[in-house]
Amino acid sequence: MRKTKIVCTLGPSTDKYESILKLLKCGMNVARLNMSHGDLVGHQNTLDLVIRAREQLSVPCAIMVDTCGPELRIGVFKNQKVLLKKGGSFTFTTNDVLGDESVVSLNYPELLKTLKKGQKMYANNGLLEFKIQQITRSDIVCTVTVGGELSNHKSVSIPHVRLPLPFISEKDEKNIEFAVKNNVEYISASFVSSKEDVLQMRECIKKYGGSQEIISKIESLEGIKNLDSIIEVSDGIMVARGDMGTEIPIEQIPAVQKTMIQKCISSGKKVIVATEMLESMIYKRRPTRAETTDVAQAIYDKSGSTMLSGETASGNYPFDAVSTMSKIATATERVVNYDSEVTTNYKPVHKNLNAIAYSASATARAIGAKAIVCYTDKGKTANMISRFRPKAPIVAITHDRLTYNKLSLTWGVVPVMVSEQQTIDDMLQTASKIVKSNKLANTGDKIIVTLGIPTNEKGTTNAVHIYEVV
Ligand code: PGA
Ligand code: MN
Repeated sequence: MRKTKIVCTLGPSTDKYESILKLLKCGMNVARLNMSHGDLVGHQNTLDLVIRAREQLSVPCAIMVDTCGPELRIGVFKNQKVLLKKGGSFTFTTNDVLGDESVVSLNYPELLKTLKKGQKMYANNGLLEFKIQQITRSDIVCTVTVGGELSNHKSVSIPHVRLPLPFISEKDEKNIEFAVKNNVEYISASFVSSKEDVLQMRECIKKYGGSQEIISKIESLEGIKNLDSIIEVSDGIMVARGDMGTEIPIEQIPAVQKTMIQKCISSGKKVIVATEMLESMIYKRRPTRAETTDVAQAIYDKSGSTMLSGETASGNYPFDAVSTMSKIATATERVVNYDSEVTTNYKPVHKNLNAIAYSASATARAIGAKAIVCYTDKGKTANMISRFRPKAPIVAITHDRLTYNKLSLTWGVVPVMVSEQQTIDDMLQTASKIVKSNKLANTGDKIIVTLGIPTNEKGTTNAVHIYEVV
């Protein structure tokens, strides 16, 4: 049973019903809809297909709506894309033009006031580099310092410049409304730079009547600087290495990634390592050895999940990419020393739950339990146990469909849906049945069950029980 979860970005390569079924069978745990591409009609269609597919296969799968955030994107080219050569001149204009080899629209007039001659600009996740030569009333005239292919709507970044953009644009707000209306499990917020950004996002979600969990994408220098306070108010973090790689020196990414994973684990928050994990699989059936090791490294560090972007959204081998990632995770998990995080030296969150989660993990380790079964309403107990990264699989039993799908992102958790259980005996017998049917334990094996007594009171997990499977 793989512990690390896999997030797949859906796109033209995978937005058909059959493809989504196949992705689920290959190991997708979370489907990400990237609002920076496509339109709401298309996203609605894909989202409906994911819901249909997860029901058809009776498997959990969370849906994550990824906002655009305060990000600069170019307009479109006459021929969809151009090839820019080093040393040539290239202009970003606030005028609404169809782009070509010499110009493309970048429609943010306020930007002109914040830029200076000599500054660097990047496009397409830092693959292309420009140096600003001149700023006119409507244009940013640059020299291409690193050339390459540039296509429609690609992102542009300007390191160390605080963009004159609101954190939640009109478009973002529409997308948040869309996410809430569709009851999705997660919203991933692009370019979070402070705790206030997250709080603003939470307010916006609330305004539309939602309570979605927020995954803050850390992809700017400001975001890295404010990491601790951002983690505190978020439900999880994405190590968004794509844009991050243009904001900080690329050689600093591995250390930042490690720190981010560690901080999220110790505060019981979710963490996703993202971007270029199996990049070469966009074009080839097999990954490079370095990519394989990159995925494995995230597993060694006990990241909650790993993500695929272009590999599944627009690549030629989306299913191979998921299977490959799943196989690397499973093989690496076999040699990772789990249970070593079972220590009291943790930031106490939800005090009682924390103690229960710790006891469950420590007891499981002490007696070599085959599974930790927890009854959970909103998923908090399962999330708390997960932070201790126990060796025993965490079986989260819930009667709430949203919780069931949401827990698909939580490290080490096997979500199971059952109707509400009335008595402790029922709960224990159901636990027995479920661990056996999931092939996690046999009759006579020991498991840990966490429950709330009295059983009819919600949110009262207060007992850790050692139980012999019947
Ligand atoms: P994106 O975010 O794919 O939405 O840009 C991830 C990243 O920047 O790494
Ligand atoms: Mn990004």
